[in-house]
Amino acid sequence: MSTSYDVIIIGTGAGGGTLARHLAPSGKRILLLERGDWLTREPQNWSTSDVFIDNRYISDDTWYDADAKAFQPQIHYFVGGATKLYGAALYRLRAEDFGELTHHDGVSPAWPIGYDEMEPYYTLAEQRYQVHGARGEDPTEPHSSAPYPFPALSHEPRIQQLSDDLAAAGYHPFHAPCGVMLNEADMAFGACIRCGTCDGFPCLVHAKSDAEVLGVRPALQQPNVTLMTNARAVRLETDAAGGAVTGVVVEREGETETLASDIVVVSCGAANSAKLLLASANDRHPDGLANGSDQVGRNYMFHNSQAVLALSKEPNPTVFQKTLGVNDFYLKGKDVDYPLGNMQMIGKSAADMFKGEKPLETKLAPGFALRDVASHAVDFWLSTEDLPNPENRVTLAEDGNVRLAYSPSNNTAAKGLFHQLKSMLGHLGMHPDHLFPRHAYLKTTIPIAGVAHQAGTCRFGSDPATSVLDTNCRAHEVDNLYVVDTSFFPSIGAVNPALTAMANALRVGDHLKDRLGVRDTVAVPDVDPVGEDRTRT
Ligand SMILES: Cc1cc2nc3c(=O)[nH]c(=O)nc-3n(C[C@H](O)[C@H](O)[C@H](O)COP(=O)(O)OP(=O)(O)OC[C@H]3O[C@@H](n4cnc5c(N)ncnc54)[C@H](O)[C@@H]3O)c2cc1C
Ligand code: SF4
Repeated sequence: MSTSYDVIIIGTGAGGGTLARHLAPSGKRILLLERGDWLTREPQNWSTSDVFIDNRYISDDTWYDADAKAFQPQIHYFVGGATKLYGAALYRLRAEDFGELTHHDGVSPAWPIGYDEMEPYYTLAEQRYQVHGARGEDPTEPHSSAPYPFPALSHEPRIQQLSDDLAAAGYHPFHAPCGVMLNEADMAFGACIRCGTCDGFPCLVHAKSDAEVLGVRPALQQPNVTLMTNARAVRLETDAAGGAVTGVVVEREGETETLASDIVVVSCGAANSAKLLLASANDRHPDGLANGSDQVGRNYMFHNSQAVLALSKEPNPTVFQKTLGVNDFYLKGKDVDYPLGNMQMIGKSAADMFKGEKPLETKLAPGFALRDVASHAVDFWLSTEDLPNPENRVTLAEDGNVRLAYSPSNNTAAKGLFHQLKSMLGHLGMHPDHLFPRHAYLKTTIPIAGVAHQAGTCRFGSDPATSVLDTNCRAHEVDNLYVVDTSFFPSIGAVNPALTAMANALRVGDHLKDRLGVRDTVAVPDVDPVGEDRTRT
């Protein structure tokens, strides 16, 4: 065994990267293990065909479905994890999401902590990730102790028109919370150039609020923080009694080594964290580490999401489309008593993403050439809550890879949300009957949701019989083992999950500081690539 650390964090995404930056000023010896490498800055970052069609940044991992059929998950192994490619829509869960909610297909369970406990950490996460937004526009918005740190992103004219039309029809459109380092007041000083290749693309100019730029890089400014890339944790070893992790077995550059640490934090993403715990079974933990409850890997959720395309009567030349959201149907539909979900915009579809096949024009858009479809497309992302189901689960396949058994929930509500939007189009300057799934038009064969919003495989709770982690996200059965990625979610709500993972990592970070008896010894300066502090003279 080589050097011993105070804290090893496995995985550098929304959970792990955020925690690393939070613990960095403590002076404790912190090691970050990341199975991927730095994501190279290269022109292909912004190439639609490289990213969207050739899947340049998707791992070549093989997973298996319930029938043992192999598939390639849409997963990204880089410093910063999935946030390198994410859309940076940084939403808080609604306060109601922390309680029990009755849905069409069943009950979304209450969390063991309430929204009030999370609120200060949401505020801090919004500051760390430089979120732009406007309070008070969305009636479902939970209370907050501070304004957004940066002003809402302006709508481009077609989206402003959509917002006005929605408001005129009695809805409550709002400026979507967004983590891009854009300085609209003085573009010369902002890092973000407001381009059309953001959602699902890496940011070439490092202006997206991702966990590499705003988590790992600031953490590495401290001499007590070390990062090992291309270092894959394959097993956790425990002491003879099974009560503490004593070693993290890592594969790196063809070698295997075992690293020791007082505290071990797993943050590999929901599926891979479950995989690591299951692969760490030993005499004391025969069904997988910390799995006495048989809950590790269960309740995998990922949102019942649909990317859909409507056709504007006027052209839609919008470049950065993700500035608007609608939550009027989040807690209940118009004519039904159950929640339908969240509507938001998705990155604008571009002409080179289209299949360009003649039969499509006739089938989907009679009277429209596909180039007209591209120039008139308005792209929405509809998300309905996916309810936890113990049979939706990660297990280990024979070759040790992830086996994912999954069937969706709340299809009726998801359809309801789709039809709700369709029924509104006539009031929104769009062709009334034209709303189609985007994948009907686009070349990509991978449904965009894929495994992007995965959560829930190591739920937290107060009862060790029904949860893997306690309310501090510490494993009930292993004293020095924590999990801080989206695995801990007992339910996923219907808004994007990253800000909740970030806020929770900060909450767990404060607990770890207390446990380690440390205070911050240095201040890690907040990154200011937006340049909003500067005043031109
Ligand atoms: C295309 C796309 C768009 C998205 N858009 C949004 C959005 O707009 N808003 C939003 O809130 N969310 C969005 N998401 C989801 C969001 O990115 C994730 O919810 C979030 O990153 C999850 O954080 P995490 O810490 O759980 O996992 P990740 O961020 O995935 O981090 C896990 C890390 O662990 C590493 N790792 C895995 N296994 C090992 C191992 N054995 N050893 C060492 N390292 C390991 C991985 O390489 C990765 O770096 C999007 C995701 C995608 C893919
Ligand atoms: S420059 Fe701005 S809009 Fe373009 S990818 Fe980067 S963060 Fe997104």
